[in-house]
Amino acid sequence: MCHKTIRENLQFVSSQLPHSTRLVAVSKYHPTSMIMEAYEAGQRIFGENHVQEVVKKYEQLPADIEWHFIGHLQTNKVRQIVPFVRMIHSVDTPHLHTQIEKEASRVGRVIPCLLQLHLAQEDTKFGFTINEAWDYLTQGTWRQMSHAPLAGIMCMASHVDDEKQIADEFERAHQFFLDAKNTFFAQDPTFRECSWGMSEDYHIAVRHGSTLVRVGSRIFGERDYGQK
Ligand SMILES: *Cc1c(COP(=O)(O)O)cnc(C)c1O
Repeated sequence: MCHKTIRENLQFVSSQLPHSTRLVAVSKYHPTSMIMEAYEAGQRIFGENHVQEVVKKYEQLPADIEWHFIGHLQTNKVRQIVPFVRMIHSVDTPHLHTQIEKEASRVGRVIPCLLQLHLAQEDTKFGFTINEAWDYLTQGTWRQMSHAPLAGIMCMASHVDDEKQIADEFERAHQFFLDAKNTFFAQDPTFRECSWGMSEDYHIAVRHGSTLVRVGSRIFGERDYGQK
């Protein structure tokens, strides 16, 4: 739990990031008033993981906010967010990617997409294994998806105290990113994002290639799950 203001927390986290790493302020479950506090302190990129919630916040908050969708996305809800989201970090199946392409094309938007890798030993059932992601890249249908271009890789580390294990997982993700970049995107500057690092491990992530950290509680404090 942090006891400082949102502005101070943002300044602290930002001061820990190299210039090549951007901050996604994860505002899920937090009220619009807290997002406005961050906005007034200069933050423009916010991350959300529920469709209903991000739609509602988008409608209420300033238009120059960049909304990044970072949670599991059901294919039947893609249509609700494609009109406005600026990036989808959590593409976890080929089918979801196809659906984003279809809906983004329908509304004439281009939404950069990140492939979510499943590296953590435990919990989440979402994401491509390294082999599945490599197969998907090899198979190549994504090359036709000009409205949902692949812009990089996202992952979450295991929820453990062992910093060495977390560092190893981020390093595997980074190595996968570099191999994919060399093999499939050598001529394509769009593929450039490495989305890893949260409140507890962003300081490790920035040492392993992260270009986007997704930090929530370190900025906004504990989430109030009753609030949503
Ligand atoms: C909630 C969430 C975060 C932020 O988590 P904190 O521990 O609060 O920083 C980052 N990424 C994803 C995918 C999340 O769902």
